[in-house]
Amino acid sequence: MNRHWQNWAGTESVAAARVAEPRSAEEVAACIGRAAGDGLRVKAVGSGHSFTGVAVTDGVRLDLGALDRLIDVTEDCLVTVGAGITLHRLNDLLWEHGLALTNLGDIDRQTLAGAVSTGTHGTGARFGGLATQIRGLELVLADGSRVRCSAGERPDLFAASRVGLGALGVITAVTLQVEPAYALHAREEPARLPDVLDTLDDLVDGNDHLDFYWFPHTDRVLTKRNNRVPVADGLRPVGRVRGWVDDELLSNRVFELANRVGRRAPALIPSVNQVSARALTAREYVDRSYRVFASRRTVRFREMEYAMPRASVADVLTAVDRWVRTHDERISFPVEVRFSAADDIWLSTAYDRDTAYVAVHQYHRTPYDTYFDAVEQIMTQAGGRPHWGKLHTLGADDLRPLYPRFDDFVRLRDGVDPAGLFANPYLNRVLGRPAS
Ligand SMILES: Cc1cc2nc3c(=O)[nH]c(=O)nc-3n(C[C@H](O)[C@H](O)[C@H](O)COP(=O)(O)OP(=O)(O)OC[C@H]3O[C@@H](n4cnc5c(N)ncnc54)[C@H](O)[C@@H]3O)c2cc1C
Repeated sequence: MNRHWQNWAGTESVAAARVAEPRSAEEVAACIGRAAGDGLRVKAVGSGHSFTGVAVTDGVRLDLGALDRLIDVTEDCLVTVGAGITLHRLNDLLWEHGLALTNLGDIDRQTLAGAVSTGTHGTGARFGGLATQIRGLELVLADGSRVRCSAGERPDLFAASRVGLGALGVITAVTLQVEPAYALHAREEPARLPDVLDTLDDLVDGNDHLDFYWFPHTDRVLTKRNNRVPVADGLRPVGRVRGWVDDELLSNRVFELANRVGRRAPALIPSVNQVSARALTAREYVDRSYRVFASRRTVRFREMEYAMPRASVADVLTAVDRWVRTHDERISFPVEVRFSAADDIWLSTAYDRDTAYVAVHQYHRTPYDTYFDAVEQIMTQAGGRPHWGKLHTLGADDLRPLYPRFDDFVRLRDGVDPAGLFANPYLNRVLGRPAS
């Protein structure tokens, strides 16, 4: 296997000392033992869809793609699967059993373990991120021991390792609470930013899964309201031609072209954004939940996303709008806004507070630093917590006050991995170096 590795966004690349593809938890434990004996660090890597260096290792890279089986399904919708399964395969498997995940992000290319480890989330004020659906985990720790955790078994490890940043051990199996398969009635509509902000609480609380995209340099917004409906009521998916035009042509091919034009002639970006926002017209359809939640993304970009108290989102967006209007940076990507319920996972970005997520993007060939730095200041002043898998500049001293259980997490990490077998430069920055 290729020792060279690069993440999806192209922000991180590294050569591992060696790569292993264990086929069982026993083999994971053996890999960890050999690496420790050789003085090498270890990192389980998912699909490489994190923008940060959270998955980077120059030691032993573990690819858990072979751990992708359905292990168990119970009558009360508890499903146990191998941790290396991708979300798109998991969605298909669940549907075959008449089941579905409660929530999902924008894409389904990530592995299950990789997605939960950085706190991947979708949207919906009544729903938590993917990790809140976990009811049990099986892990291999740095000493090679195989452990299970749940609310009743090693509860501290459970509270920490559902969003564990790959710092606590290698997850080999995950038990999820899923639900009977459902469809989503999707309504996508253009709107104006001031109108959306004026009626935000009604929009967020009145829809199961609301998100919206605001096009900088304009006041144009595309709202997406996804509401749950029974599958038995019938599906009305987007027609093939309309789907191709909206999702492939406009959202990917024309958008790529618009970004290339914008890179050569930044002054055109505000007009291009006006056109892009208008091109996405209203549409309505009903489809399987996971087909509505996730879409294909082929235009490469860089992203920063902060989680903030839900009540501050209008002020934050107004401040970002003001900054964009008063500076020369030209932003060709929409800003995405999503919502989530509070949870109890120690390093979850929604820990103990109802949350709004604001994500900013820039085309991968365009410098992003000035824009992201300015937005990061606005977000941090609002008490924002950065997504662990997306670009940000915070370190342990900045993060500690944002997470009431931060020191508990670090203490637990120091207990289970005192030598920093699973450490890397990103984890050293955001958590501090292991104690010994
Ligand atoms: C196009 C795109 C769209 C995205 N959309 C969303 C979105 O809608 N919502 C959102 O919240 N995020 C989103 N993200 C971010 C993404 O979901 C996260 O960064 C996620 O962690 C990536 O999963 P992965 O499988 O690629 O894991 P990687 O990036 O490869 O790894 C992430 C972390 O998981 C750890 N890990 C992987 N496997 C294991 C294991 N078996 N045991 C222990 N640790 C493990 C790694 O060590 C690393 O620390 C998006 C990213 C991209 C590029």
